[in-house]
Amino acid sequence: MRKLRTVRGVNDLLPYELHKHNIVVNAGLEISEKYNYSQIEIPIFEFSEVFTKPLGKSSDIVTKENYIFKDRSEDELMLRPEGTSGVVRAFLNAGLIQDLPQRFSYNGPMFRYERPQKGRLRQFKQLGVECLGLSSPMADIEVMSLGHDFLDKLNILDKITLKINSLGDFDSRKNYRDSLVNYLRDYQSKLSKDSLRRLSINPLRILDSKNEEDQKIIQNAPSIFEYLNIDSKTRIEDVCKGLDHLNIKYQIDKNLVRGLDYYCHTAFEFTTNELGTQGTVLAGGRYDGLSKMLGGPDVPGVGWAAGIERLALMVQSEFVNAIDVVLVGQCENFNYLLLPIMKKLIQEGIKSEIIYTGNFSKKFKRANKIKASYAIILGKEEIDKKVFKFKDLTSGFEELLNLNQIIKKLKN
Ligand code: ATP
Ligand code: MG
Repeated sequence: MRKLRTVRGVNDLLPYELHKHNIVVNAGLEISEKYNYSQIEIPIFEFSEVFTKPLGKSSDIVTKENYIFKDRSEDELMLRPEGTSGVVRAFLNAGLIQDLPQRFSYNGPMFRYERPQKGRLRQFKQLGVECLGLSSPMADIEVMSLGHDFLDKLNILDKITLKINSLGDFDSRKNYRDSLVNYLRDYQSKLSKDSLRRLSINPLRILDSKNEEDQKIIQNAPSIFEYLNIDSKTRIEDVCKGLDHLNIKYQIDKNLVRGLDYYCHTAFEFTTNELGTQGTVLAGGRYDGLSKMLGGPDVPGVGWAAGIERLALMVQSEFVNAIDVVLVGQCENFNYLLLPIMKKLIQEGIKSEIIYTGNFSKKFKRANKIKASYAIILGKEEIDKKVFKFKDLTSGFEELLNLNQIIKKLKN
């Protein structure tokens, strides 16, 4: 039989894989909650403009990587490629601007038409946080500290480097952009096709190129730091000061950029060498221009998004699906008598399974396979005596007990 395929870059998550994803997500939500970030859920698809307006015509995720479609009413919709635009849109719609600051966390699937490889999928999951309404660099420090604690909770900090940069304010960036374009023009013939395309629409993104030839050219490019005005310079210094106070180690990476137009000032990434070229596990920055691009008032914001799949690849944890107790009847008719027993056990919080089919020996083989700790055995003799045979499957010890006694033992 021909197997039905899944779409390229869109994977099933079997229990043993989902187990690691859940560890990552739970750790992220837990620490976010402690930092007073409340969970929010936003739609998986929205009118395209929610993403095209702020992300602009120059960003990869809108121009090349989008999943865009028309529904039956000819509305143009997009599967969300990222979470920030949707969260800020929801925040504006709800009128929360009256009540600042607001702190949100979210998690869920994102969709980008990319070339699938390890750590790069077309449907993938992100967990992110957004802090809205604070222009102070304290908020930048706070979200980075939150990201740092998240990775610490996952026990992977020793494999992670924090890289930060400043993109400056609008004026600083404009001056830098002009000088960068000037510099890159001299190398036009050597730039990769992608970078050449970006030279006119999004030159800063060229700094992010993974192409080797591009990398060589970028090495000697002017640095944004030389173009930061006093305000922007003070800001990044304040951010560094905060990180120092928290004992969080970081590297300044002058080529670190965010590919989107609304980012300014702080940009940062937590990266690892463990995942090959897909090494960024958590990335974020300040996006003071976003709210206005969505038609709202000026609201400063800063946040990050982490790739769940990439983090799950780094987490060490074995999926063990052990079961507390199995229920085994001597014949199939006894299964009916076992049903209310299982129900009672489950109500008591005891993980249980009735093994319905097979002879005794087959049933105990399954009990072994699913790593059951105990068995409750019901035969004719036990029914007559109104008890159960309770067997410790590790030691082999058996005794006759009633249900209450069994529950007491299992709960101990
Ligand atoms: P990259 O440079 O790897 O393409 P990006 O700048 O597109 O990353 P962001 O939009 O900042 O990534 O997303 C934040 C995080 O989400 C990334 O650091 C990464 O961990 C994860 N991520 C992004 N795209 C994918 C993808 N296609 N598959 C799996 N994870 C992804
Ligand atoms: Mg990308």
